Amino acid sequence: CGIIGYVGDRPALPILSSGLSNLEYRGYDSAGVALTDDALSVYKTSGEVSELQGILPESTDHTRGIGHTRWSTHGPPTDENAHPHTDCTGRVAVVHNGIIENYDALREELSDHAFTSDTDTEVVPHLIEAELDAGAEPRAAVEAAIERLEGTYAVVVTIAGVDEVYATRRDSPLVVGHAADGTFLASDVTAFLEHTREVTYVEDGDFAVLGEDGLSLYRDGEAIEPPVETLEYEAD
Ligand code: GLU
Repeated sequence: CGIIGYVGDRPALPILSSGLSNLEYRGYDSAGVALTDDALSVYKTSGEVSELQGILPESTDHTRGIGHTRWSTHGPPTDENAHPHTDCTGRVAVVHNGIIENYDALREELSDHAFTSDTDTEVVPHLIEAELDAGAEPRAAVEAAIERLEGTYAVVVTIAGVDEVYATRRDSPLVVGHAADGTFLASDVTAFLEHTREVTYVEDGDFAVLGEDGLSLYRDGEAIEPPVETLEYEAD
């Protein structure tokens, strides 16, 4: 339903937390965040963003993370089904909007992986894990996993020990926000409007990499210059 992500110089946790509050108006049944440095920390719960905020640490040093408000399509609104979803090793965290139509077949293929949720989404971290285990570099692992998906998605991925966040979409919105002290990512600009109005809309099939130097955007495998536009202030 709602996605927020951040990579930059500032503490990520308050940005993710307020970003999820900003997305509440869309409706949802669960919420969660993943913070990464050399390890992955995931906090998630069914219920309201305020409940999630109740289990979040007061502050952390992480400067990279992703967050999600879930509107269940596959699996009831339980703590386990809340996003982010992770792989078996706890390296990879994924948030997803939309529906992965071929999740049943992918789950069968991944039958040696222990799944912990009923969601369609959870195949994604396990596919990435399988690629990493086969020796793929992080970005290539995510790209290869995404190629396997059928359906609609905005998918955002963070991996422990990797200082980039990866995102792509098909028929589900994603927008990147540019600021001097970091790069934001969301399903809807309202998530990060208090931080920046300089944005890049990610198009279907684009592959976005949020790193220390901002956004790198790939289209059909080629790096392209991200088109940046400035959003007008709306009169109330
Ligand atoms: N299909 C996913 C789920 O049920 C994502 C739903 C959403 O867009 O929030 O967990």
